[in-house]
This record gives sequence, C-alpha cells and structure tokens, in this order.
Amino acid sequence: MARLLKDKTLIDTWTAFLEEHYKSEIESIALEYPEKRSLYFDYWDIDRVDPKLTEMLINQPYKAIFNAEEALENIDVAVENKLKLHFRVVNLPDTNKIVIRKIRANHLGTFVAVEGLVKKRTEVRPKLQVGAFQCQKCGAVLRMEQEEDILKEPSECYEDQGGCGRVSSFELLTNLSEHIDSQKIEIQENPEELRGGAQPERISVYLEDDLVGILEAGDRVIINGILHSQQRRRGQSQLKLTSFNKVMDAYSIERQEHAFEEVEVTPEDEKEILKISKDPEIYTKMKGSIAPTIYGMDVEKDSLVLQLFGGMPKTAPDGTEIRGDIHMLLVGDPGTAKSQLLAYMHRLAPRSVLASGSASTRAGLTAAAVRDTEFGEGQWTIEGGAMVLANDGLACIDEFDKMNDEARGSMHEAMEQQQISVAKAGLTATLKSKCSVLAAANPKQGRLNEYKSLPGQINIQTALLSRFDLIFSIKDKPNETTDTRLSKHILRTHRGIEIAENILKCEKTEYPTEERDALLENIKPVFEPEFLRKYVAYGKRNIFPVLTDEAADAIREYYVKVRRRSDDNDSVPFTPRQLECFVRLAEASARVRLSNKATIDDAKRAIFIVTQYLKRVGTDPETGNFDIDILETGVTHSQQKRMNTIYDIISNLGKSSDEGADTEDIVTEAEIAGIGKEETEDSIKHLVKDKQIFKMPKGGYKTNV
Ligand SMILES: [Zn+2]
Repeated sequence: MARLLKDKTLIDTWTAFLEEHYKSEIESIALEYPEKRSLYFDYWDIDRVDPKLTEMLINQPYKAIFNAEEALENIDVAVENKLKLHFRVVNLPDTNKIVIRKIRANHLGTFVAVEGLVKKRTEVRPKLQVGAFQCQKCGAVLRMEQEEDILKEPSECYEDQGGCGRVSSFELLTNLSEHIDSQKIEIQENPEELRGGAQPERISVYLEDDLVGILEAGDRVIINGILHSQQRRRGQSQLKLTSFNKVMDAYSIERQEHAFEEVEVTPEDEKEILKISKDPEIYTKMKGSIAPTIYGMDVEKDSLVLQLFGGMPKTAPDGTEIRGDIHMLLVGDPGTAKSQLLAYMHRLAPRSVLASGSASTRAGLTAAAVRDTEFGEGQWTIEGGAMVLANDGLACIDEFDKMNDEARGSMHEAMEQQQISVAKAGLTATLKSKCSVLAAANPKQGRLNEYKSLPGQINIQTALLSRFDLIFSIKDKPNETTDTRLSKHILRTHRGIEIAENILKCEKTEYPTEERDALLENIKPVFEPEFLRKYVAYGKRNIFPVLTDEAADAIREYYVKVRRRSDDNDSVPFTPRQLECFVRLAEASARVRLSNKATIDDAKRAIFIVTQYLKRVGTDPETGNFDIDILETGVTHSQQKRMNTIYDIISNLGKSSDEGADTEDIVTEAEIAGIGKEETEDSIKHLVKDKQIFKMPKGGYKTNV
C-alpha cells in the first residue's frame, strides 16, 4: 500500500510548502517531541497557497496525507532523532461537512467532516502496527506492516529480509512488534438536527495514537477523516457478508467547547433580540411562546421560561460546585398534558434530549459500562445515556417514576453534581451531565389525592425528589368555569390546527377570513421557536446576572419570615436547598430581559413561583402550613406527630402481650388520643415501612427495639 501511495513529485511539493510556511511550527514541536507529535493545519491556509493540494486532500486523502507525512520527515530541524509527525487538517469547507444520515457510497474514500455527539467509546487498546514474525524453520525475524483489522502474516520467509525463502509457519513476537494506541468511538447525530422525532443515526470512528483517550461520551465534536467501508461479518465463524458498514478513520478532532455554538445569531438577529428584550411585556410574551395549544398552566409556563434561561453555576468557598440549571418535575393525573409539554420543550430547547424512564436501553438515563461484543469487539465500552447526551442542554424525561434502581442510584449525582461516575472492571470514567431536567411522573394510585401529601403518592424516593427546584402537581379537578374555558380552548385549538393543516395542503379554506385569523392566532406562539432559540442562546452566551443587595435582602427576608411563621408548630419549612432555588430563578428572570442585574423584581418573581409550588406541594394538607419535611422525608409534620403517638401506644400495649398490640386496641387507644381510625391505620403502615414496628405472626404489632 505504502509503495503505491508514494509520489516523489508530491513529496517535493509538500516539502516546499512546509519549508516556506510551517518551518517554525515544526521547529517548536520538535522541542516537545515525542509528547507532541501532531501538526495541525487549517484547510484554508493550504488552500490559499495551493488549491491543488486541498483538492487532492479531499478526493485522494490517503495519498495526500501519506506524502505530506513523508515530507514532514524531510524538513531539517536541529534535533537528534528523526521526527515522525502526524499531518492533521482542521476547518474543512462547509461543502465537505456531511450529516451522518446523508453519507452515501460516493463519499467513501474522501476526506469529510462529520459533526456529532460521542455516544460510546471503548477503552484504549494497543493495536499492532508492525508485526515481528519468527520463521519456525530458520528462526529469521520478519517485519510486516499491518494495515487491516485482520492480522497479516508473511506468506513466505522473505529472502530480502534475510529469511530462508521457504513457505513456513510464523510466530508473532509481541515484544519485538510495534504497537499504537487505538480506540473506537461511536458518533451520533446532534439532537437539534433531529427535530420531528427521527431516531439519530450513528457511525463508528477509529482513533489512533495521540487522538485516543481524549473524548468521553457526551462530548460534541467534529471528526475530520476518511470514510471507508468495512465488510460485515456474521456469527462465530466470522462469515464475510456482501454488505458493508460505513466507518471512519479520524485524522483530526475539533471539539465544540461552548454550549449553543450550533445556534447561529447574526448581527440582524442580535439587533432584534436587544430590541425585544426592552419590551415591558417580555415575560408575558415569553410565556405565550411556550406550548400555546396547552391551556392555562401559567405558573408552569413561567417556570419553563426560566428553566430555558437558567441561573448561574457557582463554586462555594469550600470548592463545592453549585449548579445553575433548574430542575423541574410535573406530577399529574393522566391526560393532563404533561407529556405534551415535555415534547414541546424538547422541540423548543437547544440541545435537548427526550427520554423515558421506562425505556430499557443499557445506558438508559445516565450511563453504563458494558462489555460490548458487537460494537466494542469484546472490549469494555462506556455508553452515555440521556443525561449525558443532554449535557449543556435540557433532558426531558417522561415516566421519571418508572426508571430502574440502577438509574435511580446514579441520578442523584447526575442531577446535583451534574456528573456521572462509572467504575467497572478497572474502567473508570466521569461523564458530564450539566443539563436541566424537565421530568414528568404519574401518581401511584392513578390519580392525585389532594388530601394526601404529594411525595407519598409518587414512586420516587424523597431524597431524589429534593433534587428538583420546582415540583408541580397538575390536577384534573372538575370545575365548571375552567371546564368550559378549557373545552372551548381545546375546540378552538383543534379547529385552528385543522385550518392550519388545510392551508398547508391547499392554501385555501372555507372559514371566514376574520374567524380563521382569530383561530390561527390562538395556536400561534408569540415568538417563533427558531427566534426563541436564538434569544435563549444569546442570553446564555452573553448574560451573567448577579443578585443586587436589594434582591438578596428580599429573598432572605422572605425565607426568615416563613421559617419564623412555622416556629409555632416546630416544623422546618425551608432548607438551604430552597434558598439556592430562589437565587437560580431570580438570575434566570434577569436573563429573560438580558440584564446582568437580578433586581428586586426578579426576586419577587422567584418568590411568587416558589410560593405557588409550595402551596400545592409543600403544604401540610391538615394545617395548611408550608412544610418542607414533606419533600425531605415524605411525611408531613402532622403525620410524624401522629406516628409518634401511635408508636407509644403500640409500645405500651405490646408490653402486656406476647402476640403484640392488637389492631382494635390500638385504634381504641388512638381514638382517646384524638386520632381517627383511618389515620391510625395510615400511621401503622408508615411505621411498618420505616421498620419502627413489625407485624407478629398472629396479626399484632410490636415495636422494633
Ligand atoms: Zn525461514
């Protein structure tokens, strides 16, 4: 292969080019050789000097790169050892950037740029580059360059390498062979290129030498390299098939370090964005741009707007990272539009991933380390799940309550520290999950019971629940006025969609123009999704709000006031976690109007939203008081008090009987203490669940001492 590629004239052309334009770069890399052994070239720097070279690079990349690397060896620099440098080109023209799903046979063998998200990566493995083979007849050691995946052995004992010339059998001497680090990764299309619910397509990429070990699942990259086909094999016998897989050999990697790079904001866009940010109605208009076909849900939509923009990440004095991303959970009766809201936000938010807690992929919601026979060819492979792929974006997770125990285990870390640690079989990795979470869950009993505390009604541990900044319970509560308004809205929406579809189909409709316009207006977002994405991207890139003293005071005062109010009944309504939540929401609110100052108004908006949330979720249904105990422990303060009383009763009754306290006796004693039968039974259930009491064989209860 090498002999076929070598082209004396081409080497001379490259040598002249390098001497003239890259001499100093080569000299400086020589000082750090072999730690540094790659020289990077901007495509356009070559193109400016000699477009024939770039043309060859695109169409005959193996030949162009092989001879360029030969030329690199010719450059005379003052070092003892001969340099063996990699020639790596970046910044290819747009015409050579291809989307994975559009890769065709005519791209094979050409130099292209493929953009995507790292979905999987194998461990780093040494790969045989030059094999040393010993002849079993004469003992001569022959060297064979390896260019394929399958080991290539000498066909005879080559005389030109000092061998006996006979057909022989050979033994591979690994310690005399040359190896190179290699790694395989899988790239998947970026989620924002998939609007409309298409499944992402993927491609396998081979990395070698200094390109290995630098990428992790969830990284956004542009891989520049050569596409080729790989024969598919089947079964134990590795039967060769006539169909081929598309794979890529990477020649350089460009990382996308910053979020929202893929959302382009032109100077004209910027002008428009700045103008709109001054609109006094900006918050109403933002809300009007979120899922207009879904009726009402004002607080939820206000919160979703703030979630899109997010607060500021911080580092505490002790080094702890405090996230700026806002996590939100919607719990509701079936049919309350939770899933639709999720789907809408998924389409709207830049860098968003939609997943379900019940989906049973191996990587699932977080990440997995698996021994991958198909992709990894038996090697350990790290695969990123939804939280990793949504890094720097939004993870929309439906059926959050349905996820398996393994996912639950890593979800705490994923949501709070915003990273996922994987350690298995000596393979360790830390994957980033810096994303906001928008989750939805169904109540355990099918429907929400507003007389019971929320945490007891959903199948999510309280510790995980407390990771959410905002939890909204969405009730489908019969109410005549809202019902009429809701059904009107639904009907109008449906007709609106129908008309919109008709217009798209035949561009005319029999509705009177005025009515038609009114109906269409009804389902139109105030800002088009594309513009909103630009606005959000602009805000996240350029605006970094800080709380004003006034705003900080307002939040502190509110916090202290509510804490004091609850001192009377000694429950703790707020934890520092809630305080962080106020700050995040206030910062996000400032970002909505592109202000670097989070003012008292932003603080008030945050307080209003948290109050709405606590009113519905964090309130003890019996006393009406805010009670964050509910979120932290799953039981309200009143419930806890009752449980203590019942525990004492069981403890007393249990002393006088070997079979434990009889349920009827407990109920009677509890009634004297002012606790009803149903509440008593509820307390017993909780006490058993907490393992504070246990049931005796004959049905009585004893305390667990
Ligand atoms: Zn021999």
